[in-house]
Amino acid sequence: MATTMRAWVVSDPRPLDETTPEQSPLTLVERPVPIPAPGEVLVRVHACGVCRTDLHLAEGDLAPRHNGVVPGHEVVGEVVRLGEGAGRFRTGDRVGIAWLRHTCGTCRWCRAGRENLCPQSRYTGWDKDGGYAELAVVPEAFAYRIPPSFADEQAAPLLCAGIIGYRSLLRAQLPAGGRLGLYGFGASAHLTAQLAIAQGAEVHVLTRGDEARELAQKLGAASVGGPYDPAPVPLDSAIIFAPAGELVPLALESLGPAGTLALAGIHLSDIPALDYQRHLFRERTVTSVTSNTRRDGEEFLVLAQRLGIQVTTTPVPFEHADQALRDLATGHVRGAAVLTLT
Ligand SMILES: [Zn+2]
Ligand SMILES: [Zn+2]
Repeated sequence: MATTMRAWVVSDPRPLDETTPEQSPLTLVERPVPIPAPGEVLVRVHACGVCRTDLHLAEGDLAPRHNGVVPGHEVVGEVVRLGEGAGRFRTGDRVGIAWLRHTCGTCRWCRAGRENLCPQSRYTGWDKDGGYAELAVVPEAFAYRIPPSFADEQAAPLLCAGIIGYRSLLRAQLPAGGRLGLYGFGASAHLTAQLAIAQGAEVHVLTRGDEARELAQKLGAASVGGPYDPAPVPLDSAIIFAPAGELVPLALESLGPAGTLALAGIHLSDIPALDYQRHLFRERTVTSVTSNTRRDGEEFLVLAQRLGIQVTTTPVPFEHADQALRDLATGHVRGAAVLTLT
């Protein structure tokens, strides 16, 4: 095996929609191939999804945890080397590397089944190098087996967009057969919508972009409107996927009594002042969604296969990762962008 590999690093965080391609916050570099530590496996990357969190990192909305980090936490690849003591996978196995990559296992949150809130939690593509690279390492306890019905490119977005969407749906407390509003319709929402519809929900999509609206219609949304439109019916639950705080009062106003709004993103712009009567009274609830547990991931991957979730992807050659982020910043991606490595 070669001793070096190509990897994209966040070298100079800055807003992407205001810069020219020559001022990219990402740089393609040669790096030593990582060596799997005890309990880790080395994975040859076949595909890596492009997530909005990567964009927040590249644009500086999310402070880098160390300089020159390799982004990417929707990684599908093949185990090529086992670290000392690693035995859960064999070389040649197909695995997924996702956002959560370490928790302490002993704090009150870990013991309560809420390891997503562990203060010692560590993340792929933020604390440690991720999958915008030819190879990546992961602790085997935090890797996933990929259901065989999904090709690499389709499986990649399941690992964050899918899992976070699933947790958002749980946090949104959607009653059986209830009415769900989705604000924003990118990688995560287009998977969450299918999950909800397959389970009997009525889904209303509120989003910008003709392509996103078309996709929502095609996937069976009961209605499709603009992000600032009122929902056509009182909602039981809503999820905001767009990183736009100004949507919070709008979504709360569209909730019926006892409705719940879940905020799916890791970053949200400022939320305007709320009016108690208009936005919160009648026992409406607003909650954030923080990462996910491994159990969320396992459950979602089983459901995705069983319910036949269709993953819409825009493949991008690995060499054009910076352009993929730029397209995401300007809202020009249909479904999920996925870097493909040959
Ligand atoms: Zn913990
Ligand atoms: Zn993500």
